[in-house]
Amino acid sequence: MAALAIGIDAGGTKIEGLVVDPEQDGRILDRRLVETPATDAEEATRTMVAVARDLMAGHEVRAVGVGAAGMVSLGGVMRFAPNVAWREFPLAERLQRGLGVPVLVDNDANVAAWGEYRFGAGSGSSSMLLVTVGTGIGGGIVEGGKLFRGAHGFAGEIGHIIVEPNGPLCGCGNRGCWEQVAAGRAIDRLGRQAALEQPDSLIVELAGGSPSEVTGRHVTEAAQKGDPVAIRILAEVGRRLGEGIAGLVNVLDPEVVVVGGGAIEAGDLLLDPARRAFVDSVEAAEHRPEVPILAAAMGNDAGAVGAADLALVEIVE
Ligand SMILES: [Zn+2]
Repeated sequence: MAALAIGIDAGGTKIEGLVVDPEQDGRILDRRLVETPATDAEEATRTMVAVARDLMAGHEVRAVGVGAAGMVSLGGVMRFAPNVAWREFPLAERLQRGLGVPVLVDNDANVAAWGEYRFGAGSGSSSMLLVTVGTGIGGGIVEGGKLFRGAHGFAGEIGHIIVEPNGPLCGCGNRGCWEQVAAGRAIDRLGRQAALEQPDSLIVELAGGSPSEVTGRHVTEAAQKGDPVAIRILAEVGRRLGEGIAGLVNVLDPEVVVVGGGAIEAGDLLLDPARRAFVDSVEAAEHRPEVPILAAAMGNDAGAVGAADLALVEIVE
C-alpha cells in the first residue's frame, strides 16, 4: 500500500493542508484551506490539527510535514515566526501529540527546496540551490541528496547577506540585505521612483495614474507589454539577483539553481538578466560546468508537497 503523508503550508494568512502520494510523483489527492488565526499561537496550532484530522478522516497517512516561515530549529521548534505568534514554540511536538503520527516542521523555503528537488525543476540532480524570490528572498539547499540545515537548523537564510552597506533598511534590522535589492521590494521601490520621474509612463497608467500606488505587479505587467522603463527595472533587479546567486554558487557549487516565488511571474524578463550577471560574476565561469538557473516548476504547492515527502523520508522510512 502506498505511504501517504499530509503536507501543511502554514502561512501568515492561510493554512493549507494537502494529502500527497510521493510514489506518484508527489500527486495531490486532497486539500483543505482555512484562515490562519495568526495572532494566537495555540489557536493557530489547534487549527492545523483540525485541518490534518479532517484530511486523515478520508486517507490513511503515515506522517505530517509542515513548512512555516521563520526560524525553525532542529526538532521542529519555532524559534521565531514573522507572520504567526509562535515564539520558542515546540510546534512539532504539539502537533504530534494532537495527531498521533510523526510530525516534521521545517522552514517554508527548506521544504519548498525539497519539493522542487524531488518532483520539480531540480529532480534528477543531487545538489540544488532553491532561491525563492517574493517580497524578500528565501533559500533552501539540497546537498548529496539531503536537505542541508546547518548546526542548528537555520541554514539557507540567504536573503540577509549584506550586499550594499548603507543600502535600504531590511525587516531584520540591517541595511542593504540582498533581498532589499534583488526581490519584490526592490521592484516596488524602483517602480515608484521611475513613476515619479516619468509620470506619463505605462507603469503609472497601470497603477490608475497614481505614482504612489505603483507596485512590482504594475512594473511586471508594463514590462510584459514592452515598456522600456519597466524592462530596465526588472533587468536591474535581475542583475542583482544573478550576482548574488554567483556568490552562493561559489560557496555551494550546486548542479542546478532553481528560482521560485512570486517574482518569477516576470519570467525571463527577470531571469535572463540574472543568468547573464551570474555568468559574468561567478568565479571562472569558463572553467566550470554550466550551472543552469531554472524557473521553479511546482508553484505554490512546492512547500506542502515537499514537507509531506520530507516527513516520510526523514522520520518514517
Ligand atoms: Zn535583512
